[in-house]
Amino acid sequence: MKGTNEMTIIFDSRSENEGFARVSVAAFMTQLNPTLEEVADVKTAVSEAVTNCIIHGYENEIHNIEIHCMVRDRLFIVEVKDTGKGIEDIEAARRPLFTTKPDLERAGMGFAFMEAFMDQVIVESKPKEGTLVRMKKTIGKGRELWTTQSL
Ligand code: ATP
Ligand code: MG
Repeated sequence: MKGTNEMTIIFDSRSENEGFARVSVAAFMTQLNPTLEEVADVKTAVSEAVTNCIIHGYENEIHNIEIHCMVRDRLFIVEVKDTGKGIEDIEAARRPLFTTKPDLERAGMGFAFMEAFMDQVIVESKPKEGTLVRMKKTIGKGRELWTTQSL
């Protein structure tokens, strides 16, 4: 089995950096030869997680956001972490349409999108300590069969 390949980036929680974060993760995952759809899925999930750090974790104050990516065989893991205010009730927060900022026209769909586009989403959070969102996706699911048949 091949070893793991990892990368970490740390950047300011400014909305201008959301695009940077998304593209950096996408660039790192190209080693798995993903389809455009798989790249788009991961980019969307990362955007949602980073936006949550900026808006909810740090409430628009500028602090560090850390992204850690790991590739092992065809498995892609991305972690998005802040050391902001944390989540009181994780189960409630993950429910579609749940938001603590309805006034800011939030739809409460961020976690629902992350779940829809990734295979697994794990949320660890403690009030006043911060939040870690770990997302996993196997790249190239179902494509081996297609490759064999087309030979
Ligand atoms: P949308 O993503 O649709 O704009 P939203 O951000 O409120 O709306 P989710 O992304 O699903 O919806 O998040 C649900 C709730 O979980 C948020 O309203 C917030 O209370 C909490 N939350 C999510 N991420 C964090 C975080 N990093 N730090 C603190 N609270 C968070
Ligand atoms: Mg959100």
